[in-house]
Amino acid sequence: MRTPASILCLCLAAIPSAAHTRPAQPPAKTHRMERVAENVYCISGEGGNVGLVVTDKFAVLIDAQFDHTLPGLRDAIRSVTSKPIKYLINTHLHGDHTGGNRGMEGQGVAIVAHANVRKRLAEEQRGNPTEPQGGLPALTFGETDPQVKAQLNLFLGGTELQLLHYRAGHSDGDLLVSLPSAHVLHMGDLFLNGLLPFIDLPTGGSLAGLLENTEWVLSWLPAEAKVIPGHGPVASKADLLRYRDFLKAAQAHVQTHPGMTGAELSARFDRKAWPQFQELGKYLTWEGFFTMATGRMPVWD
Ligand SMILES: [Zn+2]
Repeated sequence: MRTPASILCLCLAAIPSAAHTRPAQPPAKTHRMERVAENVYCISGEGGNVGLVVTDKFAVLIDAQFDHTLPGLRDAIRSVTSKPIKYLINTHLHGDHTGGNRGMEGQGVAIVAHANVRKRLAEEQRGNPTEPQGGLPALTFGETDPQVKAQLNLFLGGTELQLLHYRAGHSDGDLLVSLPSAHVLHMGDLFLNGLLPFIDLPTGGSLAGLLENTEWVLSWLPAEAKVIPGHGPVASKADLLRYRDFLKAAQAHVQTHPGMTGAELSARFDRKAWPQFQELGKYLTWEGFFTMATGRMPVWD
């Protein structure tokens, strides 16, 4: 049986990230490059959004999509820099963000993540010995208890990157990656722009965690900041405020109707008021979202 994590990978792999906000690309190119700030890019395509930071000496990646998308990702990176990739930061454990780890590790790239990401990826590999092994983060920080805050400041090639774990939200190894000088924040799947949220309950996700992470980010994020979501187009602080309002409305709805199922909650929610939060396939649906919001995983065939 597929784990929720692998289901999410399959599900989110199909998202044409930001396609509607950018010029049409030749069909052979599956990766799209958007300049977010000086020397900072968002690369979208199959899998999660990749952050690319070009420092004075080398390149730093935030997430690496899948193993099979690495060649295209490398081509996209080479279109803006010939500097080598030295570091890869994982925002969380899911395979549409960490699938490229193994290939990057083979090229001598140092992989950085929250301790729970390494722990869960290692457990997954031990449980599937016939599957490809390796690509575990070599540099980890944070406590096993995902409610313990953690921060790691990296000074790489003249650029400061702040790796921030506030508490479990989408999963128990969530990292926010802040570039203070560029006013850019990569939020991983704590924020899916244009889609309903996904809460990975078995790995510690919760609606309250998503909301608390978002409230915390809004308390310090500069008004002019650009936000790279885990999936979907690059966003603004205004987009994140709307997302916060949506999470609060959803939480209040669940609390007002204790005992209701996801289907009942979905039917009674004013969905038309939130057109920017879209369903995708059978895994990101209103019923599924509200089921997860009540602390139960939806049943998928
Ligand atoms: Zn995810």
